[in-house]
Amino acid sequence: MVNKDRLAETFKFLVEIDSVSRKEGKFAEEIKKVLESMGAKTAVDNAGEKTGSDTGNLVAKFKGNASSPPLLINAHMDTVQPGTGIKAVFKNGIFTSDGSTILGADDKCSIAVILETLRVLKENELRYGPIDLVLTICEEIGLLGAKHFDSSLIDAKFGYALDATDVDGIIVRAPAANRLEFKRHGKEAHAGAAPEKGINAILLASKAISGLEIGRIDRETTCNIGIIEGGIATNIVPNLVTVKGEVRSHDNEKLVKITDDIVSSFKDVVENFGKNDSKDDLPRLEVTVEKDFPATDIPEDHQVVTMAVKAGKNLGRKIVCKTSGGGADANIFFETGIITGVLGTGMRDMHTVREHVKLDDMVKATELLIEIIKLHANSGR
Ligand SMILES: [Zn+2]
Repeated sequence: MVNKDRLAETFKFLVEIDSVSRKEGKFAEEIKKVLESMGAKTAVDNAGEKTGSDTGNLVAKFKGNASSPPLLINAHMDTVQPGTGIKAVFKNGIFTSDGSTILGADDKCSIAVILETLRVLKENELRYGPIDLVLTICEEIGLLGAKHFDSSLIDAKFGYALDATDVDGIIVRAPAANRLEFKRHGKEAHAGAAPEKGINAILLASKAISGLEIGRIDRETTCNIGIIEGGIATNIVPNLVTVKGEVRSHDNEKLVKITDDIVSSFKDVVENFGKNDSKDDLPRLEVTVEKDFPATDIPEDHQVVTMAVKAGKNLGRKIVCKTSGGGADANIFFETGIITGVLGTGMRDMHTVREHVKLDDMVKATELLIEIIKLHANSGR
C-alpha cells in the first residue's frame, strides 16, 4: 500500500525547505497547504510570539470516518544547524546530505511518514478515527513549541510522537531534567600588584565543581556540568564565572536530591570562604534551577503501547518498549495529560552532517503507523 517513490519524493521536498528553529514559517506554510488539500482543518497557535519564531505550532485535524476517540500524531518542524540550503542525496537506498549540512531527517522523515500514511488512508478508503496532527516549532531549542502549545486546539488524550530512531521500538519512559546555572561573583584585582585584594571567582567555582559526582550517577540518573565561562585577562583576578549544567532522572526524588547536592556544593564554598574573611567581601552566588522537562512513564498495558505492539504483530514484527535518556515534545504532552509514546522512523546520526535515513526504514515506520491507525479505528468510543 505504501508508495515508496512518493514517500522518497515527499521527504526530499520537505528537507529542502529550510526550517531551523525559530524560522519554520515557510515550511509550516507549505505543509499547511498540503494538509488542507487532503481535507484537514488547520490552525496555527500563538506559540510563535512566545518563542520568537516566525510561526506558531501547526495543528491539522482530520475527522476520519470511524468514531473512535481522537488520536494525537506529533512531529516537530524545526531542525538544528547547519540546516540551511540542505540538498538531499539518495544513494543505495539511503538519504544523506551533501556533507555540508545536516539532513533534517530529524524530524522530517517523520513528517514524510505521516503524510504518506494519510495518503494511503485516503486512497485506499481505509477506516480511521479522528486524528489531531500537531507539528511543533522550536523542539530543538528546549521543546519550546510544545511548552507553549495551545492544547485547547485539540481533543486527543493519547497518541504518538514520531521522533526516534528504532522503527521497532516505542519509547514509554523518559527522564525529567533540571537545568542549572550558577553565577559565581568574586572581586577583581590586579593579579600581579594586588592579588590579595581580589576574590578569584574561577577558583571558587572550581572548588565547588571538584566536589561533585558527575556523569552517570546510577541506572536512571545522570548529571553534567557542560559550560563554564568567565575571566577577561590573565593579569586580572576574575570577578565572575558562570557555570551551567543539568541533571536528569527517571526518578523525581533523585532528580531533586542530585540538584540539591550540586546547589549545596556551590553554596558551601561561599560559606567556608566567609569564615576566613571580612563579611562585605563575601563572594556572591546566584543560583537558577529551571525545570527543563518532566518525566514520561507510560504503563505497558496502556492502549498506546498495546496498539503499537499489536500493530507490529499484525505485520510480523516485534515492537519493543524502550527507555530514552532524552526529553522530547512527548514529555511535555505527557505532563498535560496526553499520553504520548514515541515511535522511531529510522533517522540516524542526528545533529551531525553525517545524518542519514534508510528509505526502507521510513517504509516500515509508515506501515506501522497505518496499522496502528487501523486498530485505533476499531477501538470504538
Ligand atoms: Zn527530533
